[in-house]
Amino acid sequence: MKPILAAEGTTRLVFLDNNSTTRVLPEVIEAMVEALESGAGNASSAHGSGILARQVLADAREQVSRLCGTVSGQVTFTSGATEANNVVLRLPLTSRGASIKRVVTSTIEHSSVLGPCAALEGHGIEMVWLRPTEDGQVPVEHVARAGLGPDTLVSLHWVNNETGVIQPVEEVASLCRSAGALFHVDAAQALGRLPVHFDLAGFDYMTGSAHKLHGPQGVGVLAVREGTPLAPLAHGGGQEGGIRPGTENLPGVAGFGAAARIALDGLSRNTSHVRTMRDALESGAIARVPGAIVNGGDVERAAGTTNLRFPGLDGEAVVALMNQRGVYISQSSACTNMRPEPSYVLREMGLGEDEAYESVRMCASTDTEIHDVQKALAALSEVVGILGSELHVPRDGQAKEAAAG
Ligand code: PMP
Repeated sequence: MKPILAAEGTTRLVFLDNNSTTRVLPEVIEAMVEALESGAGNASSAHGSGILARQVLADAREQVSRLCGTVSGQVTFTSGATEANNVVLRLPLTSRGASIKRVVTSTIEHSSVLGPCAALEGHGIEMVWLRPTEDGQVPVEHVARAGLGPDTLVSLHWVNNETGVIQPVEEVASLCRSAGALFHVDAAQALGRLPVHFDLAGFDYMTGSAHKLHGPQGVGVLAVREGTPLAPLAHGGGQEGGIRPGTENLPGVAGFGAAARIALDGLSRNTSHVRTMRDALESGAIARVPGAIVNGGDVERAAGTTNLRFPGLDGEAVVALMNQRGVYISQSSACTNMRPEPSYVLREMGLGEDEAYESVRMCASTDTEIHDVQKALAALSEVVGILGSELHVPRDGQAKEAAAG
């Protein structure tokens, strides 16, 4: 396997930002190239090349359906999880979703859920915003207290992209089912990382994205339970059941299919490897940075993610200095990373602005090796050495308190 993002002859770069995106696997690239070279044409054409294209789509749909854990659900390919989330969350504004009068969601959703939900508010839909606990969880009791009924759509992410904290989506699904409410799960950070059983869990809608599981960027999925209302985001051709019109992204979809197959085949092996890497990273960082705290560390988290607060250190400086040493980590999520604002997820968990700025995210993946972790930790030691003087001059005394606690 080629080193991640490193040119021939240069030092291997360490990519620990796998919640923002992941490296496309060689087998995935092969499947994409094959789709491009196979003579497969437009899947809407009647001739042989159309038949070939429809076969590529059908094979990939089969693989992605398996990963989603559905045999009866409708699996629609989209341009990503953002688009898929928008299909679901714009539904209340359409005639097919007219019975939805209330939408319940949390304040720590991804921007692709927060955005359309905020838009709903301006259109007469009642929005209920649930805040997480200090651990970054949205407890099932809080969802129950929102008062669910047949006029309600609940939208909750499965795994938080910043903390890795797992939300109780299976319990929320049964709650919604008994109340007659619709339930959407944003599984962008869960698909390919946790066992997912769409049919068994009783979700109504589930969304995901290929590039979080070593597939290509720009392709996602929307799984919908049979008989559940659905309306297109755009109007045009009849592709993807008319829900996502436009000529299909054949190579992208083929790549998603391959990534889904590989992720499902290796799920338990990969999860345990990724967990081992994350735990080594996390404990190594804690050992190197006085008073380091894991945000969301007391509850169940997906295997790869650690979100660490380094009291007294400026997270932005940590990210920049790690980058100079060939180690890619991040502050909050890539979708909000370029904005000089503290993470809203951490702020909602009760962290002060300074505490949020002191936090960084590191995410391992299946291709993270122990020498990557060692390199990252060696870089972190250097960075702490450079920035370390700040540790002894805590802002507002926070570092001292954190170290004591
Ligand atoms: N939801 C979550 C939880 C995510 O982490 C992301 C990607 N950061 C998305 C949705 C959006 O996915 P995409 O990049 O495919 O639009």
